[in-house]
Amino acid sequence: MSIASNLETIKSELGSQVTLIAVSKYSTIAEVKEAYDAGHRDFGENKAQDFVAKCEGLPTDIHWHFIGHLQRNKVKYIAPHVHLIHACDSMRLLKEINKEAAKNDRTISCLLQLKIADESEKFGLEKGELLALLKDEQWSKLNNIEVKGLMAMATNTGNTAQLEQEFGEAQSLIAELRNQDLGPQFSWDILSMGMSQDYNIALEKGANMVRIGSAIFKS
Ligand SMILES: *Cc1c(COP(=O)(O)O)cnc(C)c1O
Repeated sequence: MSIASNLETIKSELGSQVTLIAVSKYSTIAEVKEAYDAGHRDFGENKAQDFVAKCEGLPTDIHWHFIGHLQRNKVKYIAPHVHLIHACDSMRLLKEINKEAAKNDRTISCLLQLKIADESEKFGLEKGELLALLKDEQWSKLNNIEVKGLMAMATNTGNTAQLEQEFGEAQSLIAELRNQDLGPQFSWDILSMGMSQDYNIALEKGANMVRIGSAIFKS
């Protein structure tokens, strides 16, 4: 199968309300160009260095998503180009993003990462930590950040019931947040979850942005 036909197949399953991020972290610039030429515009990278190399080597109308764990000292490299940062999980990181956004005279859109997997190595905030972060008084100083929603990664398992339970946690938290008014800085429109192996279950649980790599580029 080609990259273009993989994209077409997956898009037809997602429907028009769901944004597909083609995760290009294992792909070459030529492979990304193939997807671009097929009309795709949203791509995701998880390492700052690769992110910058791909941005610089490809057309400027691409929306580049930073989907991985982001170290504070790397924020400055991605700040000029990034469309959405998916995995924000601390006030220290958010303050750094805000600082670099201001330097670049722009606003950066962010998602907060909710930890749903029962694997200790995964990053993200437990529900209680996330709610506590939202109460932090420093938000009012982050004039160059907008929080657009939540991102989550499920356990790497074939157990459907477990995946349903984990994605369900993110679905109920975003429903709660959509019912609260935390001010214009927060909108909760986006629920980013689902990868090649589990996106069908994520969609059942309300995902409206999926991050898919291998099923596009490696199959
Ligand atoms: C790699 C990656 C994906 C895509 O994974 P695939 O299994 O290749 O679809 C999605 N989200 C994050 C955060 C990733 O690092």
